[in-house]
Amino acid sequence: MNSEHVIAAKFGGSSLADAKQFRKVKEIVESDPGRRYIVPSAPGKRFEDDEKVTDLLYEYYAEINQGKSGKATQKKIRARYQDIIDELGLSVSLDREFERIEYAFSKGAGEAYAASRGEYLCGLLLADYLEYEFVDAAEVVRFGQDGYFEDERTNFFLRGRLARAERAVIPGFYGADDAGEIHTFTRGGSDVTGALVARAVQAELYENWTDVSGFLLADPSIIEDPRKINAMTFAELRELSYRGAAVLHEDAVYPARREGIPIHIRNTNHPEEKGTLICRKLSPEQEIPITGIAGRKSFAAISIAKNRMNAQIGFCHKLLEAFDENHITFEHMPSGIDTISVILPLEEYRQKQEAITASLQRLLRPDKISVDEDMALVTVVGRGMRSESGIAARFFGSLGEARVNIKMIDMGSNEINCTIGVSNGDFETAIRALYDALVQ
Ligand code: ASP
Repeated sequence: MNSEHVIAAKFGGSSLADAKQFRKVKEIVESDPGRRYIVPSAPGKRFEDDEKVTDLLYEYYAEINQGKSGKATQKKIRARYQDIIDELGLSVSLDREFERIEYAFSKGAGEAYAASRGEYLCGLLLADYLEYEFVDAAEVVRFGQDGYFEDERTNFFLRGRLARAERAVIPGFYGADDAGEIHTFTRGGSDVTGALVARAVQAELYENWTDVSGFLLADPSIIEDPRKINAMTFAELRELSYRGAAVLHEDAVYPARREGIPIHIRNTNHPEEKGTLICRKLSPEQEIPITGIAGRKSFAAISIAKNRMNAQIGFCHKLLEAFDENHITFEHMPSGIDTISVILPLEEYRQKQEAITASLQRLLRPDKISVDEDMALVTVVGRGMRSESGIAARFFGSLGEARVNIKMIDMGSNEINCTIGVSNGDFETAIRALYDALVQ
């Protein structure tokens, strides 16, 4: 294998929604000989109110399960592929494939099998169109029979198989267990397959082609025309994604990060745009102080007060035990001398309110427990949080001027982020104030 110039490129559903999009994909693939391993999603939406093929497949499966014929839905799915075949003049026929799918359904194939056919069929078409070899993900992406993804075995099979394929299309989103049963990743999981392929072929780059030109510095529904993020580190991506800036599937990051393979988010509809490059380390000219601002509403802060808490050995341990025994993960745990707060999603708190209060009472015997159910979290991510003096002054000054009351402050120990808690009603104001002060 020519390891010098190997790119793994994943194309999302909107990039493969119809024949016009297929043409763009071919042009992109052919414009760089390094694009040798291609991972497609299932055809997505062609226009705003359109349906994704994966959603149609779930619907089709549900209909069959309810004893209905599912014919109308099957027809819609077939038409999506047939239109592509006809318009591109492909020689593949999907008649046999649809017979097989019907047969598998009649034999009780599972929901994952149904959903996976979107990528499978799309992969067959794309391989034919690009004249690449088709490698069925069921052969190489391994799951255990419990549905748990098997990382190392997958790498072993993928690496071996792709070493024998000069150029290949490997459908995203699914794999199989040793008995041949299909399993899928969670929705959006073709991103994960793309990263696994990149790792297996030791690609120099994992390109993720989608319908946006990368990450924006802030949510465009709050900030008008926000700046784009040209480059960021894996650690920053993790912070921003966690706080709600979603472009990539979370599990796609780890395999690439571990191998040090940069991920490049690109726009299929605007290949001339730079996109966002995510890598381990940035060069000095790529460095900007603030990488992004993100956040989410609807958290609860449970505050526990107890006199001389700081002197009690094991207090934190018991606090965590209270959360542990109720199977609750939390977001932040800011503390004072005699108080400590735990911040968690409001919905989760409401579901387990009584149980968690009982555990806290029993384990900690606190003086007081109070709960603030009106909290939004806003995080500013960037290397400048650590290295540039004056950023903190601008950060807090801007919020003061905008009359935003800060309820909580947490500066991550890796110091590339600072999170504040504000009322849900102040969420947008806080983001605008921070953007104006730190970015403009
Ligand atoms: N087609 C699947 C979905 O709609 C997987 C993907 O697109 O990545 O979630």
